[in-house]
Amino acid sequence: MPQSAPKIYHGSCLCTKVRYELLTPPKAVTHCHCGQCQKSHGAAFSTYGAVPHGALRIVTGAADIQSYASSEFAVRQFCAHCGSSLFWSQSKGDWPDWVCIALGTLDTLFTPEKQKHTHVASKAPWDEFVPAEPPKE
Ligand SMILES: [Zn+2]
Ligand SMILES: [Zn+2]
Repeated sequence: MPQSAPKIYHGSCLCTKVRYELLTPPKAVTHCHCGQCQKSHGAAFSTYGAVPHGALRIVTGAADIQSYASSEFAVRQFCAHCGSSLFWSQSKGDWPDWVCIALGTLDTLFTPEKQKHTHVASKAPWDEFVPAEPPKE
């Protein structure tokens, strides 16, 4: 990325009680069309980017973050006041040391080099977006 890329990315929930910082740019940017993400975000899909757990710093509102175990291994975290989806992570699988950040909560401009779509088989029928590249799944 260009040298102008910021070193710290700032993010917050809708009510701004929760503020966080990312010490590295989010990686593996993914638009997830699974049914759980649709419910969790109230939207056609979620968009997440991952950072190592140690690169996520909660600046304010740590006590306002609620957790919901959406599966045996996955935890979704959100603001208890405004309901913004913030993070999800899983204790098992390929990425146990990473936390996924809901990119809609980023305040710092971030342009990923790559992005992908996943779980497109369960894509909402009212979502007209057509991915630029055919998904590999
Ligand atoms: Zn909030
Ligand atoms: Zn999903």
